[in-house]
Amino acid sequence: MPDGFTTPKRSIRDVDGLIEHGLVPQAARLGLAAVAARYAIAIPPALQALIGNPDDAIGLQFIPNAAELIIAPHEMADPVADEALSPVPGIVHRYPDRALLKPLLACPVYCRFCFRREQVGPDGGVLGEAELEVAYDYIAAHPEIKEVILTGGDPLMLSPRRLRAILDRLSAIAHVELLRIHTRVPVADPGLMTDELAEALDTPTPLFVALHTNHAREITETVRLGLQKLQRRGISILGQTVLLAGVNDSEEALGDLFRAMLRARVKPYYLHQLDAAPGTARFHVPPERGREIMANLRGNISGIALPTYIYDQPGGLGKIPL
Ligand SMILES: *Cc1c(COP(=O)(O)O)cnc(C)c1O
Repeated sequence: MPDGFTTPKRSIRDVDGLIEHGLVPQAARLGLAAVAARYAIAIPPALQALIGNPDDAIGLQFIPNAAELIIAPHEMADPVADEALSPVPGIVHRYPDRALLKPLLACPVYCRFCFRREQVGPDGGVLGEAELEVAYDYIAAHPEIKEVILTGGDPLMLSPRRLRAILDRLSAIAHVELLRIHTRVPVADPGLMTDELAEALDTPTPLFVALHTNHAREITETVRLGLQKLQRRGISILGQTVLLAGVNDSEEALGDLFRAMLRARVKPYYLHQLDAAPGTARFHVPPERGREIMANLRGNISGIALPTYIYDQPGGLGKIPL
């Protein structure tokens, strides 16, 4: 937040809000209206509070930019082929033993580099009861599925009761031995990390949470306290990061982030090479540079702090370590 503003109480959801909060200039209104018509905007209070200036590591991730309408030739609406690998609505089944379940497509914050940016949004894609039943049936009919990964959208946007109902149905399928939830809620909206939510995630079937976070400054004391509610109940938390130009593409930034994760008892799991989603070229870091950063970190930081640097190949060919 620029000086002189009180602590924000609501998410910024449109260009007027961005201008009002001093995050973009008046002159950007017209250009950004076209971006906003295409890609959802949300910057929740907790993240607004971390933005020192619009070009810092937090601001860059969430403040829309006119460059989002410039589509590079290699960029694709569905870079990792979610759609092609979706047998029924809400399910993505690429690896035999793992299936994704996307119960909704809304998020607490819309990242400007998101690989699902063409799909996600505030009023999109909540699976209804009937669709959920079809999804459960699909998983039940595929005994090779050992792990169900809830993603979206952000599954922790669901009410604890609704979430628990989904987790209970999945746990009841005999061959599902592992549950996982990918989320940005603990960082983006720490107020949602209630005891009620933690209770809902305390399932008989082991559950891992993969926390999406890209900069050490995102992991505040409030965030740590929210994560602790899960950890006290035996839920392990993994960290997932996207390598982003101007945000974390240095030894210092990534080293600080991975150490901040460990201090919050979060094990760095994946560092993702950016997927080629439309209008995200300004975030691209060459894989050679990513490799160099990882090599330079090795030996200078706990081995526990090092994630696997991974690339999700276009067209649904799967993830490969870089
Ligand atoms: C990334 C991904 C997974 C999970 O992969 P892990 O390597 O187990 O984290 C599962 N299914 C799909 C379709 C994915 O894209």
